[in-house]
Amino acid sequence: MTERVNILGVKVDAVTMSQAVERVANLIDAGKPSIVATANAEMLLRATHDAELKDILNAASLVVPDGAGTVWAARHLGKHMPERVAGFDLVQELMKISPVKGWRFFLFGSAPTIADKAKSKAETLYPGIKIVGTRNGYFTADDEAEIISQIKSSRPDILLAALGVPKQEKWLAKFRDELNVPVSIGVGGTFDVMAGVVKRAPLWMQRAKLEWLFRAMLQPSRAGRLVALPRFVLKVHQQKLSG
Ligand code: UDP
Repeated sequence: MTERVNILGVKVDAVTMSQAVERVANLIDAGKPSIVATANAEMLLRATHDAELKDILNAASLVVPDGAGTVWAARHLGKHMPERVAGFDLVQELMKISPVKGWRFFLFGSAPTIADKAKSKAETLYPGIKIVGTRNGYFTADDEAEIISQIKSSRPDILLAALGVPKQEKWLAKFRDELNVPVSIGVGGTFDVMAGVVKRAPLWMQRAKLEWLFRAMLQPSRAGRLVALPRFVLKVHQQKLSG
């Protein structure tokens, strides 16, 4: 078992990418419905005032350190955090080995046609991958029974839910047992990036830990979210002082 680091009340697993992939593989083998979360600074900050989200994250089978902010926070608190495990990258790693493992994916979420485009892209990148269903993420409560039955009947091993934070985590937690999928992961904007609608930051910016800045530049509607970052830094610092 790897260590879990408490960041603003949420326990984040100190895992490398390869350990995260191994943990997901074990969860699939175990077969019990489980939730994997990808915790970035924004999510951790939200959990400080959203108790439901916080409880879901602390009950999750695996919480990976998604983003430079999460890795920084753990290290600032004096804890070991080996590397960033971005949700997008984790999905790519899982997809890459899935043909050998025989894993089946269901892509749920994003605007109409986006999940289908992400599916085509995955089939090009990872020949032999089994994507057994897609469904867009715009629905009402009346549609939920049908969505659940669509997911269940396609029997995925991994359900990727791209509904945004915290909707995806809450939806997955609410229907976890009913869905009975071994691994469900909230993946935010992953399908948008795979479909080519949203671009990933160039490598040099990712390495300089500036991916958040790139996203804000490209989607000015997201720029408002940047105020979360200094608040996150401040709160982590307060935690350090009080601990
Ligand atoms: N989305 C969705 N249903 C909703 C709200 C959002 O399917 O009711 C999708 C949206 O189209 C986008 C993703 O959820 O593909 C959220 O992406 P974002 O990058 O905002 O993720 P976050 O930063 O919240 O993880």
